[in-house]
Amino acid sequence: MARVLFRDVRVFDGSGAERFPAEVLVDGTRIARVVPSPATIDAGDAQVIDGAGATLMPGLVEAHAHVSFTHPVELEDIGRVPPEENTLIAAYNARTLLDCGFTSAYSAGAAKTRLDVVIRNEINAGRLPGPRMRAASPEITSTGGFGDVRQVHLDHHSVEIIADGPVELRRVVRMLAREGVDTIKVNLSGDNATGRRGFSERVAFTDEEVAAIADQARMWGLDLAAHAQAAGAIRSALDHGFRTIYHCAFADEDALDRLEAKKDEIFVAPAVGLPYAMAHNAAEWGFTPEVVAKRGTLAQIERYQRVFREMRKRHIRVLPGGDYGFAWNPIGTNARDFEHFVNLFGYTPREVLRAATEFGGALMGMADELGLVREGYLADLLLVLGDPSADVRLLQDRDNLLAIMKDGAFYKPPNRVAVAA
Ligand SMILES: [Zn+2]
Repeated sequence: MARVLFRDVRVFDGSGAERFPAEVLVDGTRIARVVPSPATIDAGDAQVIDGAGATLMPGLVEAHAHVSFTHPVELEDIGRVPPEENTLIAAYNARTLLDCGFTSAYSAGAAKTRLDVVIRNEINAGRLPGPRMRAASPEITSTGGFGDVRQVHLDHHSVEIIADGPVELRRVVRMLAREGVDTIKVNLSGDNATGRRGFSERVAFTDEEVAAIADQARMWGLDLAAHAQAAGAIRSALDHGFRTIYHCAFADEDALDRLEAKKDEIFVAPAVGLPYAMAHNAAEWGFTPEVVAKRGTLAQIERYQRVFREMRKRHIRVLPGGDYGFAWNPIGTNARDFEHFVNLFGYTPREVLRAATEFGGALMGMADELGLVREGYLADLLLVLGDPSADVRLLQDRDNLLAIMKDGAFYKPPNRVAVAA
């Protein structure tokens, strides 16, 4: 298989350590050698890329992806998009993520049961450009829970599957396993973003119901991911072995202690990109200051700031990934989350990028082979103009991505290729 030698690059290896000048050899799908300068690697038959001092770093991982979201103003509008259109939009979104340097995407919910599954399968088959994907189920909710948009006189659905009671919930998890999802996404709490005050603090399922979901998911080897704003929902997720816990705006001291106690087993992502964009960039879609105030969006961002500054101190693995896929925060702007981590949560740029790479690889279930520039790791690499480990905003401009490599193959080849010596 092809070999590629990167010369004159500064390696940000994903561990959070400072960049260092090095040469990196890719052999087939993996990184074969990382040699700090001034030592050099014999190019042999390798294609030589002259990095001219650019940064070589691991590909980015989006920790809360909705590849099949169709950029609606309101979540429930996605329910009106037929599966055929939705599939094509999802394919476009997957390509856009890769164009933006996201070589992996951990899905936080599919718009329809088989959408993530078919996109993941087509990417894996090499027929569709896109990131490595962990395919999620639609969001499982209870009657009256977050995502249940039905009215008594109108049986309308959005992106959710509604099930109540242990028996129904087990049936739903079994069906999703049959259809090939990797992750069961459950809305364990409500969400104030719907405009219902106090909804975030409401827990959607009984302990018995969550136990049934979790037990069935474990039996079938599926990941568990929770939408959990309420402290009680966070506790429930932790009690039942959920691996990924999203949002956590209402985490109290006890919930934070419990998250910290399990910090080596779990991943957390606030998905702050969504409320941030709703508050600051969505006026033309009707999110005027009055509407934003009614939805409590600014208060939500303030809660996230308090909670996630605390999680950072406790060394809980918090990952960027911001619910991109709505009209005002489209897929392709995902790298904005890195800036939010710096400005809102007090992360250093290197801490954010570690979360988006090393921790991202672990989130994908590939801790020993994805997310670092290290010998033996998969060659998902970005060649970036400038130093994103000093200024994460550089990653928001895809023109700064000089090259994008996934599995050792260039998806976006560099313009300048030096002739092998
Ligand atoms: Zn989401």
